Amino acid sequence: MNSRQSRLAIAATGLRKSYGDHVVLDGLDLSVQRGTIFSLLGANGAGKTTTVKILSTLIRADSGDVRVAGHDLAREPDAVRAAIGVTGQFSAVDNLLTGEENLLLMADLHHLPRREGRRRTAELLDQFDLTDAGRKPAGTYSGGMRRRLDLAMTLVGDPQLIFLDEPTTGLDPRSRRNMWQVVRGLVAGGVTIFLTTQYLEEADELADRIAVLDRGRIVAEGTADELKRRIPGGHVRLRFADPRGLDAAARVLGQVSRDNDALALRVPSDGSLRSLKTLIDRLDDRAIEVDELSVHTPDLDDVFLALTGDSTDKKVTTR
Ligand code: ATP
Repeated sequence: MNSRQSRLAIAATGLRKSYGDHVVLDGLDLSVQRGTIFSLLGANGAGKTTTVKILSTLIRADSGDVRVAGHDLAREPDAVRAAIGVTGQFSAVDNLLTGEENLLLMADLHHLPRREGRRRTAELLDQFDLTDAGRKPAGTYSGGMRRRLDLAMTLVGDPQLIFLDEPTTGLDPRSRRNMWQVVRGLVAGGVTIFLTTQYLEEADELADRIAVLDRGRIVAEGTADELKRRIPGGHVRLRFADPRGLDAAARVLGQVSRDNDALALRVPSDGSLRSLKTLIDRLDDRAIEVDELSVHTPDLDDVFLALTGDSTDKKVTTR
């Protein structure tokens, strides 16, 4: 294993999966750095859950080379399983047991000594704000509490890499924000997160890198900002102290839209440092003073629609 690979929590090339003649994954390449949050963003049916199931050893790919947590997925599935945790659409929570009992059961499954299991359970109930609820049956929990318990149960095994499959689908905005805090806390503690989501805002908030999955293919990958810059429609807004500055700048910059009332110009731009510097230099050369400059990039919504095309059978949700 070379040093680049050892920094990767996931390295996958040419991942393919079909059911009959339905191609679900059509040659996926993924690399996820350790200690980061990577988000696979896609609409319903794009292939997110299938990807998670393959990477977490639950189902086999038809082809592709995959290393997860430094182990070959096909040859060392047990070592992969020992290093990962999976939570998401298929929850492990037993409704008849209390939160505490669910966690103790997990501790048993991981062969923790009894005292250690109790200690870890109390610690996790506290960390996930479930101490009071811990003695009630999980069947009485709200959606947000249930997701937190599910994630806490995954953490009993101390995974290096956690797959979170749509962790906030169906949660109210407050519970979602709560969950985001929890996820950020995990990464601060050194864990790697592979997050699938259909919420653009969630990927934007959490992910270091985002891959956009569309019909089994990655159609774009990068940071949220990089993805937003790929889409035309970004602009820089310049505001001037007086009409003279506005006129002078409009003459120099040429093709811009102009708002006389606000003393502002809107200049098309990809928002990159290079293009900003060029713009500022041009104004500086003519000693034109700018009162205020702001950069407006398109949001991930624009990116998603531009990359995957608008189609009626797909829906990506923003709030
Ligand atoms: P969602 O957000 O709805 O969970 P997803 O991106 O996770 O979507 P997948 O669950 O990976 O999508 O499904 C991708 C496609 O593969 C879907 O068209 C689905 O019907 C199909 N599929 C998944 N599992 C099977 C299976 N066991 N047999 C046949 N088709 C399947």
